[in-house]
Amino acid sequence: MRLKRQKTYKKYMGVYQHSFGFREPYQIIVDGNFIKVAQNSRLDYKSMLQETVVGKTRIMTTNCVINELRSLGEDFMGAALAAKRLEKRRCPHGGNPVNAADCIKEILGDTNQFNYCVATQDLNLRDYLRRIPGVPLIYINRSVMILEPPSPATTNKVKEIEYNKTIPNNYENAIIKNNTDTPEEAPKSKKRKGPKQPNPLSCKKKKVNPNNQQQQKKKINEDEKKEEEEVAEVENTEVEKPKKKRRRRTKKKKNNNVEANNDTNNEINQKNENEEEEDNDEEE
Ligand SMILES: [Zn+2]
Repeated sequence: MRLKRQKTYKKYMGVYQHSFGFREPYQIIVDGNFIKVAQNSRLDYKSMLQETVVGKTRIMTTNCVINELRSLGEDFMGAALAAKRLEKRRCPHGGNPVNAADCIKEILGDTNQFNYCVATQDLNLRDYLRRIPGVPLIYINRSVMILEPPSPATTNKVKEIEYNKTIPNNYENAIIKNNTDTPEEAPKSKKRKGPKQPNPLSCKKKKVNPNNQQQQKKKINEDEKKEEEEVAEVENTEVEKPKKKRRRRTKKKKNNNVEANNDTNNEINQKNENEEEEDNDEEE
């Protein structure tokens, strides 16, 4: 079988699996004319059926089918013998065998609740079975075994099943009614969670510094003419500030190396500190 067709057939069987509960081994009811055509074409129809439904199979027939084949004369004796060797699906007709098509119709009923596939060359029977949702139909066309695509009745039923899955059942409705309070509370908690106000820890420094700088700038603008000299001093101190710290560090490093000059260095450090304090006073 071609890979492309096998893929399609697997997709078809997937529909029957998901929506109608078909499971391996797939139960396939074969009728007399299907066996006869398979024999005429010398087809290994059992293995071909497995390939067609892409899975394990249980091939079965009914007593009515065997009886019909026997009644058709010598031409159908081989088919009758082959059918006799198959698994027999019990049918309600027992001692009063009926037409094979009617027998299969009766076994499937209106819903095909036992998930049978049907392999038949009978056009009328296939036409009838297409109206029942969820019946995979197989036939032979020029020694090629064909699995019919899901019938409109089947696809409509699938849509209905999928739609019903979206509707909450009684149990789910009960849960929804009980939980009507929680949805009202849930958004409140979400509102609380969301940061409406800026994080004070992250914004304090950013907000305070620019304000001071702006205020300083405003003051500078206002007093620009009067206090040009003072402003220059403030700027100089701001620029010099980090330099002083660097000097101190270098001196401290030197302290480690030269212990004898500790006293003089301490004096220098104290002087620097005093100068810094003065600078701070000026800034404020
Ligand atoms: Zn029967």
